[in-house]
Amino acid sequence: MHPVEFIRTKRNGGRHTKQALETFLNAYLGGQVPDYQLAAWLMAVYFRGMDEDETLALTQVMAQSGETLDLSALGETVDKHSSGGVGDKTSLVVLPVLAACGLVVAKMSGRGLAHTGGTIDKLESIPGWSGELNEEGFLRQAEGVGMVLVGQSKDLAPADGQLYALRDVTATVDSIPLIASSIMSKKLAAGARTIVLDVKVGRGAFMKSLAEARELAGLMVRIGRAAGRRVRAVLSQMDQPLGHAVGNAIEVREAIATLKGEGPDDLRRLVLRLAEEALTAAGRPTGQAREALDSGAALSKFRAFVEAQGGDGRVVEDQNLLPLAPGIFEIRAQTDGGVLELDAHRVGQAALWLGGGREAKGKPIDHSVGVYLEKKIGDSVRAGEILARVYHRNGYGLDEAVSAIQTAYVLGDSVSKPPLVLEVLT
Ligand code: URA
Repeated sequence: MHPVEFIRTKRNGGRHTKQALETFLNAYLGGQVPDYQLAAWLMAVYFRGMDEDETLALTQVMAQSGETLDLSALGETVDKHSSGGVGDKTSLVVLPVLAACGLVVAKMSGRGLAHTGGTIDKLESIPGWSGELNEEGFLRQAEGVGMVLVGQSKDLAPADGQLYALRDVTATVDSIPLIASSIMSKKLAAGARTIVLDVKVGRGAFMKSLAEARELAGLMVRIGRAAGRRVRAVLSQMDQPLGHAVGNAIEVREAIATLKGEGPDDLRRLVLRLAEEALTAAGRPTGQAREALDSGAALSKFRAFVEAQGGDGRVVEDQNLLPLAPGIFEIRAQTDGGVLELDAHRVGQAALWLGGGREAKGKPIDHSVGVYLEKKIGDSVRAGEILARVYHRNGYGLDEAVSAIQTAYVLGDSVSKPPLVLEVLT
């Protein structure tokens, strides 16, 4: 293996064979290729792209870099994944809804990526909760509890775990082949038969336009189908954050409120839509989703899942078990008006700069910092009213965060609420 030649091929716009991809990634995982060469290759892919066959090959190589689970004995299995957004705590609600509907939820998630949050980081706000399970533990919990969620590990799609952490800190996240292979390698390795993808579109998403989001969604649906999975993709709006909470512990609080019927309307609507798409794909009646949410069955399932993975299930009753940072800074409106824009990318960056995300590989994060958006697009505001609250620790990252949030808000005259779900690819 000659890593420099491999990197040069992509830098010059060439194609890789499946065998070359396999050799390079195995050499990286085996420690013979250093991070700086992988980073250079990622940047070459970012600029030169990959064609569909190459992306499919990369996905297969990444999925097969560890174990691939066979869940066929478990009945109707389902997984859900987002392409990355701000305030996107949807998985924390939709997965227990689906499990409460009798589907077996078996999912592999990631950590925060660039300015977007990650499900594993959010769940680690819960005291004791761990996403590290071996294959046996994963299968046992899927069968016993009906819901299991793990992080990338040495066992499952290890190549994704390594590439993901490096992409996060080398500005190489927003590339269609790298996102498609990252998401679908996890989905193929974790084994669920039905997969629902939430492809985010807009300022806070990696796909800024509907055309790019369609391309990513179509590619992932085709990769999943080629592997014999049922895949649906929902394209949803990410110009402004989802819900009001952005951060880690603060998002878990909002997800639990939604499971209790007290959450924000946009989050509830998206959860129900994704759950209905998953149920339809699995041949089940869609009305079950609303029933599972409104009856409290999904909340009980969430608690059982948290406890099965070592977490303190009392978080569903006691918010104080999910502490927020002690410093609170209030951002107030300067004028009367309506919220015309609320740039999700800037809000996501603010949460990252407060310490809620990583700017260096493997850096610990602060689960208690974050932002609560009192006003969202379409809301009316009076001068002096609070637009957002910033939860910070001893002022860390505060100045940058406040100025990002202040510029994220644009107030004006006419206000209307934007649509949430843009398209569904079945
Ligand atoms: N989610 C993933 O798992 N990978 C990406 O690259 C983006 C979102």
